[in-house]
Amino acid sequence: MIRRAFAWTALCGAAGYAVLRAQAREQRTVPSPETFTIPQEMRASGPAAGPIDVVPLGGLRQAELDLACQVVTEVYGARCRLHEPVVPPPAAWVRPRAQLDADALLGFLVDHFPEDSSRLIAITDQDMFAAGRPYVFGYGHLRDRVAVVSMHRMEERYYGRRPRAPLEMTRLYKALVHELGHTAGNPHCSAPGCVMREVADLSVLDGLTGLYCPECMRRTRCELRVAPLAPEAQFSLGGALLRRRSFDRAVMVLARAANGDPRNAIYQNDLGVALLRRGDRRGALAAFQRARRLRPDLPQPGYNLRLLERGIVAPWEAETAETTATGSGPGPSSGR
Ligand SMILES: [Zn+2]
Ligand SMILES: [Zn+2]
Repeated sequence: MIRRAFAWTALCGAAGYAVLRAQAREQRTVPSPETFTIPQEMRASGPAAGPIDVVPLGGLRQAELDLACQVVTEVYGARCRLHEPVVPPPAAWVRPRAQLDADALLGFLVDHFPEDSSRLIAITDQDMFAAGRPYVFGYGHLRDRVAVVSMHRMEERYYGRRPRAPLEMTRLYKALVHELGHTAGNPHCSAPGCVMREVADLSVLDGLTGLYCPECMRRTRCELRVAPLAPEAQFSLGGALLRRRSFDRAVMVLARAANGDPRNAIYQNDLGVALLRRGDRRGALAAFQRARRLRPDLPQPGYNLRLLERGIVAPWEAETAETTATGSGPGPSSGR
């Protein structure tokens, strides 16, 4: 079946909150199984380096939470830390639309991200939308290690049909591995049958095989081996906190990254930016100088030092301090 050309993207990675392109393509339909089981090819061959947190946003059915933990354990080899249900922040609820704002939810999840966690996935039964899209089944970030999935439009009753538990659980499974795939740095993928394919509507979701292609599998396995408290993981979290303007926590997390890998100029530079935005000019100066000594070829530390050399840095100038290309800027970041 050829889908319409201007469908909305319903399962997406917020690739730095980039709007993702919907495409017309031939869609193979895969019959839904009567009973759902995790495909053998998706089972982890070894343990992950850290736990994955599952956060119910409001009331979810036990079977849904059980499946989420089963996916965490069997697909990613991670310990599942199932949280008590959390009420979504009122600011994320958009009353005129009667929907949750997925971007606001991701921000809320970053703010509450446990520092010893590999990644965090939240599940809600409420309807959810994202910028430019009337609804989404799921939403994840390529660098922030957080994602959220909505059951609302994956349930048959939404379409006025009788419930079909195996089909709905299969959809939840696909949405979970798609979104967790985004948190492992996978963008949308055009490899035939890959579960990281862009999803525009329910028929596309139902047509996914539920498997990662070899490249998406390789990247996911690789990312899951990074320990949550390793410098690179803390650096990534520090970038997410900077984007969220959580400067105190960004300083703490980026200092941990810089202490863990003191020869890394990129970590020093972004620590300097976090310090500057927090108002610690002297600390920022020292961090930028360390970064420049370590990597004289890196442009950002020199640029940031020149900002400081102008004298007192006004708040709007602190905003222009440059993070490294792989770090985080004050505005939306670009996708991979
Ligand atoms: Zn996606
Ligand atoms: Zn793929």
